Formats: sequence, C-alpha cells, structure tokens
Amino acid sequence: MEASIQLLARRSGQQSNAIPSALISFVLLALLWLVGCGPSGVVPPAESAPIALIGGVLLDGKGEAPVPDSIVVIEGGKIRAAGPRSLTPVPKGAERIDVSGKYVIPGLIDLHVHLGSRAGAQYVASAYTRERVEKNLQAYLYFGVTAVRSLGIDRDAIFPIRADARTAKILSPHLFTVGRGFTAPNGHPTQEVGAVARQVETPEEAVRQVQELASQQVDGIKMWVDTLNNTLPSIRLDVCRAIIEEAARHSIPVAAHIYSQADTRALVGFGIHDFVHMIRDVETVDPALVATLRERRTVFAPTLIRQELAWFYSEHPERLADPDVARTMDADVIDAARAAKPSPDPVARREFDLAMKNTLALARAGVPMAVGSDGGSALDFPGLMTHRELELLVQAGLTPLEAISAATRHGAACLQGGDDLGTLASGKWADLVVLSADPLADIRNTRRIERVMLAGRWIDRPALRVK
Ligand SMILES: [Zn+2]
Repeated sequence: MEASIQLLARRSGQQSNAIPSALISFVLLALLWLVGCGPSGVVPPAESAPIALIGGVLLDGKGEAPVPDSIVVIEGGKIRAAGPRSLTPVPKGAERIDVSGKYVIPGLIDLHVHLGSRAGAQYVASAYTRERVEKNLQAYLYFGVTAVRSLGIDRDAIFPIRADARTAKILSPHLFTVGRGFTAPNGHPTQEVGAVARQVETPEEAVRQVQELASQQVDGIKMWVDTLNNTLPSIRLDVCRAIIEEAARHSIPVAAHIYSQADTRALVGFGIHDFVHMIRDVETVDPALVATLRERRTVFAPTLIRQELAWFYSEHPERLADPDVARTMDADVIDAARAAKPSPDPVARREFDLAMKNTLALARAGVPMAVGSDGGSALDFPGLMTHRELELLVQAGLTPLEAISAATRHGAACLQGGDDLGTLASGKWADLVVLSADPLADIRNTRRIERVMLAGRWIDRPALRVK
C-alpha cells in the first residue's frame, strides 16, 4: 500500500518534503523485491538495465517505411532510442536481445472496448466484477494491445481499478475509461446493457451528469447517437450539445457512437472530439463534412467488426478453431459463436458495405482512422477482434502500414494523456510487440506475436489469466 502511494505521488509529480527521494526509491525497490517480481504495469522499476532489441525490422508507428536491421533501446520503461543500427548505439551494460528476422511494432491501441464482459451471446450485467475486468485487461495484453479505452458501460468499480493499473498494482494495459455513457431514455444500448447507460432527457440533467463524470476524473465521455433504424429513441441533439459544451468546460473529450451523416454533421458542429463506428446511411459522405473532419483531425474508430459479427462465425467457422480462441474464451461462449446463425437482414450487409466504403473514402481524404473493436460486446472477443479490425481496415482498402498507424499513432492521438503512447519514438512508453512475420506482407501477421512489452517489461503471456 505504502509503495503504491509513493508511486502515485511520483506519477502526479508531488514531492515529499519529509523523506528524501533517494530513501523513498530505496524503500520502494526493497518492497518490490520483497513481494517477488512485483506487480507489473505502467510504472517501471526505478532502476533497470537498459534493454537493446537488435537486428529486427522496425515499424515505429509513425507511418514511415520500415527500418531493416534496427536497434531499439529501452530504459526506465521508456524508449530511449529507435532507428537503424548505424545510427543507434547500444548503451554500455544493456541487455542485448537478438530480434533479427523479426518485426518490432508499437503495442496496439483499442479505442473501443467494453470491460467486465465474457462476450457471450447476450450481455450479462452481473458479469461486471473486478475479477472479470482484470481478466479482460490481461486478454488485451495477451494479444499485444497495450492501451484500451473502455467506452461507456463501466461501473464505479472501474475507478479504483484504473488507479491500480496506473500504479502498477495490477497487470493492465494503459487504461482509459469514460465511466457510464449517455443515451436517450430507453435508447441504444439500454436494450442490451440496461440501466448502466445514462438515460437523459434534458440539457440541464446532462450538465449535472457531466459534472458528476468530471468529479470522477473520467478520461472522456461517451454518447450513443443511433436509433437502430428507427427502432429506438435517439438522444436529443440539444442534450448532445449540452454534454459537449459542459465537457469542454472541464476539458474532457467526447466520443460519439454514430450511424447517420446528419447526426455526425450536427455533432461536429457542437465540437465533438471523435467517433466510433462509421457513417453508414449514405453512399458518399458530403465533401464539406469531409473537409471539416480533415481540418480538425477528427478521429474515427470505424468498428467494422461489430457489423461483420452478424455473419462472421457462420462464414468463417475455421476462426473458432484458432487455438487463441480456446485460450482466451470460455467454452460456452465459443459454443454460442459456433451456433450463431447469420443475420438474414440484407440491410446489415448494405450498412457494412457502406461503412467499408466510407472508411476508405475518409481515410483517403486525410481523416485519421483508428482501431476500435467493441471487444466485450456480444460474441466480440477481447483482443482477438482488435486484430480482426485491422484486417477489415485493410479489406476496406487501407494499406497494412496505414492499418498499423491506425492501431498505434492515431489511437494515441485520440486519447487524453496519450502523448507518450503510440509510436516507438524516444521518450514514449516502451510498449511494443515482437512479431515473427511481416505485418506489411499480410496484416494477419500482427497475430504472430512472439513477445509483448509493456512499459519496458516483458509480459509473461503464458501466465496471463484471461478467462
Ligand atoms: Zn461499443
């Protein structure tokens, strides 16, 4: 407990007047040593020998050409240097690790997850326990996802979990949460998740609830703006506006789940920060809207996989034979996926096609695309589907290099406090994945994971508790 308090104080930049910092460091190290290897997470040990990854192909997340025969130097949990061998000296005393023939990419960032779920066919509110949240977090790490944004159905229990993640008391990716998101009374997703969504009728009530979220120090705010084809009420636009304006007073970014171009345009007008899902009610997005999105660098996490899941398992039953499915998912959930019938609704196919088309059009116009999987929603397997979303971005027409930028740099750009995430540049957290095959040759090779590093520490993947 004492150690975590000191770690928290160090992270928040507070100084102790009473105890010299060297003594604090010593006590801290001694405590970590006493409890064995200590909890892992985003706070690295104060002293550790530098690590040098030598000879791999470096894809640093900046969207540039790969660097063959690279060196990546990690020290104190951060990237100290990364570049071609000829320009990147290995510090004296560094642990040298040969990664020749391998590919080094930044840890992946998933902007759209739902923690506290077994990802069964139906959402089960009672599944939201600390144990389940921690297993979800470890599943993301297993798949090389080193930062997640949990988007709208967290309970208050998430806040102490986030504190524990940020002080390395639990093993977790960098964890961002928006707490409980906003919708209309009986609006989407209450038909799935029930009362955990904030059902707000008036701007005044919205303002009050944004203030409550601000007091919880949320990392963002979520709103659902979708009638599911006029089957459910939509949150009123004046309520959306009040949320966005009050959030701006507290410097909290607002993310919206959207469906229609008209809602997207209205929210952009109110100053929305970013979007999940894609516009899927028009063939061609209005060029004036596209220009505004490009100018503001508004990030979209298209979450194509959520739509594809309507037929994914029936068309790709072989995916359920993937050993990592059995490794990370409960048997009854796998059975439910195997039994899932494809949606007979032709509208679902058409909306998927429009989402794919508009994802490519916006990306080509310079609007940043990021990765969101909706992991934890119905039959949407945490971490595994982060990788499927990368595949779908490539299927939509992005290059594999662009898909990797989406899952790294663009995701980080969307996160408040994400400045030190997303690329393998000097000074960033040393979050990375070592792959045994080239993701630019085949994006599915992001699954060929040999090792995962979080904040300078190797993750013991076989030891992770994921289900
Ligand atoms: Zn979602």
